[in-house]
Amino acid sequence: MENLKKSFDVIVVGAGTGGTTAARFAAKKGLDVCLIDRKEKSHIGDKICGDAVGAEIFDILKINPPQGEELSCHIKGAKLYPPNMKKCLTLIDPKQAGYIVNRLEFGQRLLNEALDAGVAQFLDNTMVLDLIYKEKFVSGLKVRLSNGEKFDLNAKLVIDGSGFNTPLRKKAKNPLIENEISKTDAILCYREIVRFPKGDQEVMDPEYISIILDKEKAPGGYIWYFPKNETSLNIGLGVFMDYGGKVKEFYQNNVFKEFIKTPNYEILSSGGGVAPIRRPLWSCADNGFMLIGDAACHVNPLHGGGIDPSMRAGFYAANTAVQAIEQADFSLQKLWDFNYEIMTSIGAEFAALDLLRRVLQRLSNDSLNFGLEKDLLSSEEILQVSSTGSLDLSLLSMATKAIKGIANPKLMLDLNYLRIKMNEIIKHYKNFPRYNEDFEVWKNKTIDIYEKVEKMSYG
Ligand SMILES: Cc1cc2nc3c(=O)[nH]c(=O)nc-3n(C[C@H](O)[C@H](O)[C@H](O)COP(=O)(O)OP(=O)(O)OC[C@H]3O[C@@H](n4cnc5c(N)ncnc54)[C@H](O)[C@@H]3O)c2cc1C
Repeated sequence: MENLKKSFDVIVVGAGTGGTTAARFAAKKGLDVCLIDRKEKSHIGDKICGDAVGAEIFDILKINPPQGEELSCHIKGAKLYPPNMKKCLTLIDPKQAGYIVNRLEFGQRLLNEALDAGVAQFLDNTMVLDLIYKEKFVSGLKVRLSNGEKFDLNAKLVIDGSGFNTPLRKKAKNPLIENEISKTDAILCYREIVRFPKGDQEVMDPEYISIILDKEKAPGGYIWYFPKNETSLNIGLGVFMDYGGKVKEFYQNNVFKEFIKTPNYEILSSGGGVAPIRRPLWSCADNGFMLIGDAACHVNPLHGGGIDPSMRAGFYAANTAVQAIEQADFSLQKLWDFNYEIMTSIGAEFAALDLLRRVLQRLSNDSLNFGLEKDLLSSEEILQVSSTGSLDLSLLSMATKAIKGIANPKLMLDLNYLRIKMNEIIKHYKNFPRYNEDFEVWKNKTIDIYEKVEKMSYG
């Protein structure tokens, strides 16, 4: 590979939704960018996924929403069911509206737009192996081409968007970058895209994604039923990582048998994957290094949705990279601006939703049925929680809830305590310290809030 360029302003690892967004906006602003993926170019975007994307991100980034071949269908909102499915909460707001995409076509479009924006070099079929540190700064990467040839690439900045199993997070030397993600902070998913002949089976609520909470059928996660069009579905479930060997069995018994009623089905795609479901890393940066998307746990902990946040993080990282290059400052102190941007936006929301997720994972099916049936959390409140991570209840609505929740006062009190802690953590994240402020104090308070929620006994 003699004519391979080996030095860049920025190297972006991973051409997923986060990496292509980071590369696109960095290149658009004139940076010399190299984008690398281990997959072949024509497979970029092909990921086992629920394929649901919110509409808002396309407005924020001012890029075209999915259309044409990459669009499966438009979604008005979400329907949330308790285990007994007796009642459904319908969640409709601009943030819940969105699209079901054809993941490969969507990923290919994002890649092509990044390349058109001026990415200087795209290396597909190239495995990134390790970070190169020089005097405490990340200064490049060790990579291996598909022909087995290994070499080093140099960069002023490396942006890691190589997903949950990134090899780079494990090699990061800054102790604020957690090298390993706890098994309890991730969820194992399995899904299929199933097609059936027209008229053989009705698609339930074709304009909504449906989510079913059930501690027994999907322990630790939920079942999803997402329409693709009038003859196909994306259905699957997420479970605690400990159920590793059993996830397919859970899917067969609790999802496929439950929802596929015709014998004339065709399975178009099947497979599993892991999604992180926790607040972002303590720091998503080191000297010369930023992490985005699944690699940095930029995923909604409530439902595992990470396409929009990875794109948002890619955009923030590109903006910080532009400033860092302009000022020739690649230190963590400069890149802390990226941390600040993340923590005060999606970080605040995800920390609050992480607390909610931890409580929901422990509630019994009876409590879930009771809580949703009695409107202890209403559609509006769930929307407020899932879109902002905070929940402001008037005294009147608290009193109404107290009456409805009278048969289960413990659950009522627990949910109220949780609400207080969610509001507290969101404010706390909005006050994320600047680089020279006292991070340790901030970190200890975060741990304290988490520990208090962990100690709840749950209704
Ligand atoms: C089953 C399942 C269902 C999901 N459903 C949804 C959903 O409906 N909606 C939603 O918003 N989110 C969903 N998610 C989460 C979503 O898929 C991710 O959050 C999102 O894709 C993260 O994007 P990313 O760019 O960070 O990483 P990825 O999309 O994982 O991209 C990482 C890229 O890095 C490349 N790569 C990895 N390692 C290397 C290496 N060593 N060298 C070079 N390249 C490398 C990979 O080939 C890949 O192209 C789901 C996840 C799973 C597992």
